[in-house]
Amino acid sequence: MNYRLELEVALEAARKACELCREVQQARLSGGVIEKRDGSPVTVADYGSQAVVSTRLEAVFPKDPLVSEEDTGLLRLPENAALRQVVLANVNKIDPGLNNEQMLHAIDRGTAQANPKGRFWTLDPIDGTKGFLRGRQYAVALALIEKGEVVLGVLGCPSLPENLQKPHSTRGFLFFAVKGQGSWAYDLAGGNKTRIEVSCAKQSSDLRLCESFEPSHSSHKKSLMVAEYLGIKKPPIRMDSQCKYGIVARGEASVYLRLPTQRSYVEAIWDHAAGSILVREAGGKVTDLMGKELDFAAGRKLSRNRGIIASNGKLHERILEAVHRVAL
Ligand code: AMP
Ligand code: MG
Repeated sequence: MNYRLELEVALEAARKACELCREVQQARLSGGVIEKRDGSPVTVADYGSQAVVSTRLEAVFPKDPLVSEEDTGLLRLPENAALRQVVLANVNKIDPGLNNEQMLHAIDRGTAQANPKGRFWTLDPIDGTKGFLRGRQYAVALALIEKGEVVLGVLGCPSLPENLQKPHSTRGFLFFAVKGQGSWAYDLAGGNKTRIEVSCAKQSSDLRLCESFEPSHSSHKKSLMVAEYLGIKKPPIRMDSQCKYGIVARGEASVYLRLPTQRSYVEAIWDHAAGSILVREAGGKVTDLMGKELDFAAGRKLSRNRGIIASNGKLHERILEAVHRVAL
């Protein structure tokens, strides 16, 4: 299967969602933030992005379930009526015809079951909401999963510079990958698509690590110990969201470590589906801390995996060994 139509629809959906997120960020509407039951923030743009992507997927693939981060539980509460209006106003800038009920329906389509035997989409409408609120990195992450395998991933990174060494270079990139067809990127302003590849670093001391900006999402202390064990001299790149997979896929970092800080935390599929296919198709490797492939057939969570190591693939075994020696 070449997934041409799926890719076309997913790219357009992610591009429109990125447009909405940028508008919200520029208008500083991110002030419209509420707290979810788990204490994490959700904004106008998380809901709006989910509505915009879901609407496009439903129009072309009405039978495909969507497994996504947000639902309308909080948004339907009377005390959040004003926030709901702001979400609708922003969605209407992209989709002028959509009414309140249609928008809520679109968002709630994301509560579907993750069918391990069939095909479904998974979406993080804003991955790295904390980064979005800080004015730093965030991503719109959309992937198609078939029989537990990610076959297509699109990652919109509206604030990512073309080159991390040049923070003022063009900002805003869309990455995409389809199984067996490589990884690609183009700038959101409409540049040509270019093929991307992981770095060719072969010496462990040449590796460049990246990790979460938030120390509660991945242990900075343990990654420092891994870096010391491997003889890495350069400081880690700390960044919110799946943009980290993007920078590994395009060779600016050679390892992305996600070292759990809590025994009980289980990663969500939408936090890794799009990113993991990008790195794999760019020539890299993605496993958990035990060296196991990520198992997307376990439901909404990666409940059969623990932690993440994404690398350029050349030294994956050595990194696994380092993690086992000093960080488990
Ligand atoms: P990052 O920007 O890479 O730090 O990842 C953001 C994602 O971390 C969010 O989408 C959350 O789903 C996820 N997250 C929340 N709490 C934790 C935690 N304790 N450990 C790991 N990931 C978490
Ligand atoms: Mg997320």
